[in-house]
Amino acid sequence: MAGHIDLRSDTVTRPSAGMREAMRAAEVGDDVFGDDPTVNRLQDRMAALLGFEAGLLFPSGTQSNLAALMSHCQRGDEYIVGQEAHTYRYEAGGGAVLASVQPQPLANRPDGTLDLAEVEAAIKPDDAHFARTRLLALENTIGGRAIPRAYFDAALALAKRRGLAAHLDGARLFNAAVALGVDAAALARGFDSVSVCLSKGLGAPAGTVLVGSRGLIERATRARKILGGAMRQAGILAAAGLYALEHNVARLAEDHANAARLAAGLAQIPGLRVEPARTNMVFVHVPAGQVAALGAHLAREGVLALVGPRTRLVTHLDVDAAAIDRAVAAFRGFFAAAG
Ligand SMILES: *Cc1c(COP(=O)(O)O)cnc(C)c1O
Repeated sequence: MAGHIDLRSDTVTRPSAGMREAMRAAEVGDDVFGDDPTVNRLQDRMAALLGFEAGLLFPSGTQSNLAALMSHCQRGDEYIVGQEAHTYRYEAGGGAVLASVQPQPLANRPDGTLDLAEVEAAIKPDDAHFARTRLLALENTIGGRAIPRAYFDAALALAKRRGLAAHLDGARLFNAAVALGVDAAALARGFDSVSVCLSKGLGAPAGTVLVGSRGLIERATRARKILGGAMRQAGILAAAGLYALEHNVARLAEDHANAARLAAGLAQIPGLRVEPARTNMVFVHVPAGQVAALGAHLAREGVLALVGPRTRLVTHLDVDAAAIDRAVAAFRGFFAAAG
């Protein structure tokens, strides 16, 4: 909402004037015929940025992840995935409901990774009793945590040794790359498919690009059609994505600095326990009895937050350092009054 400091998610950003101008000026065509030059440019650009042969634009990350799952697995196959992963926990069971693919969830460790010995033990033998284990699905960032390359070297070596494909849900891959000081391509290398959202910290109104080999993207194009995600003059959206890749990647460092500023400010407030900032996210523990009152107080002060016992606050390009300071003051005001 205009005038509010919205810390609910980095999906709340509205397209900037420059992004809207790029959308207005976009050259378009019917993308189902492959005719939209702006969509083609975005797909090629993301593929090149991440070191893959081809890319495919989707309306959402949920659909991109599901199409990837359908491109790697047949009915009755299985994917290994973290309990906290978006592709398992936050996509309404789409893999099971729409693709007849069974998840094999494993607990995420505190750093967001999966224990690779547990992954290996979860791979089913080739036996008629079992689903066929086909895919390892990982995520970066996960819950805001940027996972360094070394982990993926070990995970991808395991996947290769055991004949599993590997998918990376990189909805916030550029946040991870900026936080770790590496190229996004270095984090994407070795995966068979990678999904990157344009509609989170990158600030586009919609859109996710899946990258992979030409063969993988051919299968994903069919899956996207099944899922109803093939769009027509989608260059309007692709132009926003191209603008985001050009203007909004390096500046993610500001979001990370603002998250650190927010965490430091909140940590000064007695009554709150604050976890160290994770890229553009801060997790704050609020006493159960104060959750409802805090939410109402913040709303009155113009701060939008999804307040719960463990409250996630997210920074993004519509929140600057001054807004962070006002948000901290709103929290401080509540706990000062609550004594
Ligand atoms: C947001 C998100 C997605 C996809 O979300 P949509 O809202 O469907 O675009 C996928 N994975 C992760 C980790 C996300 O944060």
